[in-house]
Amino acid sequence: MNLKIPFLILLCLLTFGCENKEIKTYIKDDDFVSISYPVTNISFLDEAISSYITKVKAEFDLNRNKKELNISYTYKEVNDDIVSVGFQTEIITDKKINKIKTFTYNRKSNKFLTLDDIAKDLNVFDDDIKKSLLKEYQNVDMEYLNGISYEYFTIGDENLTLYFNPTLLNLDYDEIVHLDIPLNSLDLLIDIDKTQSNDYYFNIKKRNIDLDDKVVALTFDDGPSRYTEGILDILKKNDACGTFFIIGNKVEFYGDVLRKMLEYNNEIGNHTYDHKYLTRLSESEFKEEVNKTQEVIKKETGYSPTLFRPSYGGYNDTLKSYTDLKFVLWDVDSRDWSVKSKDRILKNVLPNVKSGSIILMHDNHEYALNALEDMIKSLKDDGYKFVTVSELLEFEKIRDS
Ligand code: ZN
Repeated sequence: MNLKIPFLILLCLLTFGCENKEIKTYIKDDDFVSISYPVTNISFLDEAISSYITKVKAEFDLNRNKKELNISYTYKEVNDDIVSVGFQTEIITDKKINKIKTFTYNRKSNKFLTLDDIAKDLNVFDDDIKKSLLKEYQNVDMEYLNGISYEYFTIGDENLTLYFNPTLLNLDYDEIVHLDIPLNSLDLLIDIDKTQSNDYYFNIKKRNIDLDDKVVALTFDDGPSRYTEGILDILKKNDACGTFFIIGNKVEFYGDVLRKMLEYNNEIGNHTYDHKYLTRLSESEFKEEVNKTQEVIKKETGYSPTLFRPSYGGYNDTLKSYTDLKFVLWDVDSRDWSVKSKDRILKNVLPNVKSGSIILMHDNHEYALNALEDMIKSLKDDGYKFVTVSELLEFEKIRDS
């Protein structure tokens, strides 16, 4: 009897079972589409998420007046069994539509949970909920409110959040309506694991750079992702560093990767929370994109970024005046997401680098990762030293003074 076969099968199961969770980000720069979603490795949940996203994307693609699509998520492991995921979808065509979709899944019972599975006697709160909605959103139609169901909810650290699609409430208000109910006021039918906030502090070490050195800054946008750690390892192995412009909505999922970034002496910059096209936003919407990202990075790492890279590279002076963060673009574009091949990435970068260059790459796919080691070696052979963007700006200030 051949014993190798069962052994191989067991090994595969183990490997698949241990597969890492990740956040996938789909950003198409020429279409203004930005989609982030978690891959939970719970097959029913992942299928439901993926079919939701596919459907929204297909509808958007068919719309003749399509301008921008943003899908962002919240993700919470409520306890060992239950995962709560919420999607906020913003579809901009000739008008702007916001939609909410939520999933709460119990992997032990293989079941999507409704609010009745989460808390006992929620109808006790029914009147309070309606009153709060009326108070907050004066135009809510009472008739709609009476027939309202609590279909959309997520569970967070402190609150159960109920969401209502604006059209459902008969509002011509274009934001998702939501209401937080403190968990400790509810008669819960499930256990909630309290997560502790992290306390990590890092000091970025100074690099030894002479004023006549040639310097270059590698920058990576749209992460973190499953490829980011590979990039960090290559940077460390080659005594190089990078500046990572992070999308805020992914930070909590990749706390370990962010801490490793700092531990390996890289820099973290802010690349908005949801990767929206910024010049369409109001002052308060823009500030929320920036500040939420600052807060979540600080919470995970203890580090506060000082640099900001606008999503899609789109900005104006008004936006600049809304924040103290320094706007950073690039002068060398690898176009890694478009050309994909290592050789073409190197061809886009190497001939165009000069001392003080900022190179744009992305860490939400494998293309930059594949080209990185050769790029670093080639630049080193040409006498370049690697610095973070803040170090580069500091270096230029000192050199020019
Ligand atoms: Zn980006």
